[in-house]
Amino acid sequence: MLKEVEGIIISETNYGETSKIINILTNDGIVGVMAKGSKSLKSPLRSYTQKFTYGKFYLYYKENKLSILKSVDIIDDLISIKTNIELIGYLSYISDLIYQIMKQNYDKDLYNLYINAILKINDGLNPKIICNIVELKGLDYLGVGINFNTCVKCGSMKNIITINPDEGGYICKNCYTNEKYHDEKTLKMLRMYYLVDISSISDLKISDEVINNINNFINIYYERYTGLYLKSKKFLDAITT
Ligand SMILES: [Zn+2]
Repeated sequence: MLKEVEGIIISETNYGETSKIINILTNDGIVGVMAKGSKSLKSPLRSYTQKFTYGKFYLYYKENKLSILKSVDIIDDLISIKTNIELIGYLSYISDLIYQIMKQNYDKDLYNLYINAILKINDGLNPKIICNIVELKGLDYLGVGINFNTCVKCGSMKNIITINPDEGGYICKNCYTNEKYHDEKTLKMLRMYYLVDISSISDLKISDEVINNINNFINIYYERYTGLYLKSKKFLDAITT
């Protein structure tokens, strides 16, 4: 049966002398595909089976077996990302993160979240903000989502004055002890990140201070609650700080 899937190649493994097995992150989840002869210089598949190729993949689909790649139509060459080492770092990490989330809790919305994030980064939007939005939305699928409505200690919806990653969310005035104080802009923007539809973002006017506050919050929260330790995150941190 011939089948068409849309997605991005997230890994490739050599198979024999001339073939490769590629894993494509698609709107149907992760699909493993045999790309026969794709390492050979003459193969028409050669340039379309590299990691991070974004396209439509036509497969001879086999239920419960490895499908065979027939042909590929490129949707976008993601050239702005692929010519910038920092953006490649973001692409690698976001791909890894979505893959890990899909393994734990597949949901087809994750694919749209992923593709929209990558396209916005390719369009030149601030990659740190886009990445943080993906991370924040991803928490719900990992089962450790943040409650954006109430104080984590007492459940009050009133007088929220800061947020603390170690305690897992908002802190109200009555429960405040000695947590790091975050201004109202940071608190509001964190919630906006969670609610926004990435595909609708056209420009971002957020101060560096707020961007960094949120990034620090999310980094600490991820380390503490998700149990994910990704090499691609370490690499990204190394090239961006
Ligand atoms: Zn409270």
